[in-house]
Amino acid sequence: MDSFIRTSRAADSLSSWLRRMTFVDLLPHQVVAEIHRHVMAWAELVRPRPGDPPIAVGVEGGDGAAADPLPGTVALWVRWQDSADPIPAAVGLVTVVTTSRVVDGRTRWSARRSCRARTRKGLPCPIGPRPSGLCHVHDPTVQCGATRRDGHRCAAPTGGVRCRTHRDATGLRHDAGARGVAGQP
Ligand SMILES: [Zn+2]
Ligand SMILES: [Zn+2]
Repeated sequence: MDSFIRTSRAADSLSSWLRRMTFVDLLPHQVVAEIHRHVMAWAELVRPRPGDPPIAVGVEGGDGAAADPLPGTVALWVRWQDSADPIPAAVGLVTVVTTSRVVDGRTRWSARRSCRARTRKGLPCPIGPRPSGLCHVHDPTVQCGATRRDGHRCAAPTGGVRCRTHRDATGLRHDAGARGVAGQP
């Protein structure tokens, strides 16, 4: 298998795994330890088959840097703070969405479960999920769902009813108007 495909599959798998991680008000070294703990659990789960290349996972703020990976290794880099530091193209980036606040003069970090969809920019969606694992924007069951003129499905987040544009087509608004005059002679 192509090493680029291998790396992006491993990055997707670890991203999904880490999305379930929650913690509240941890100091940076505690965040790194928590991520390491989850990475170990993930590594036990996706035990490579014989002949598969070894997977190396670095965590930002932990030991090691996103150096050029050894040839034949799948290298992943877990980023959990806003950072513009570039990573080598061969390294798969895994992003953990966190928030921070200052408590007693120290910055502390929290992560909560987040939606499993990606934003238009390709970043993990930071919105809290519904039981489906998708947020109120990305969950198709709470979108408009009408077929647009261009043939695509309308993904307007409406809570599951037709959006303003598509409401007329279903006659709902006219029904409501008709009900207003019902009963009059
Ligand atoms: Zn979402
Ligand atoms: Zn619509």
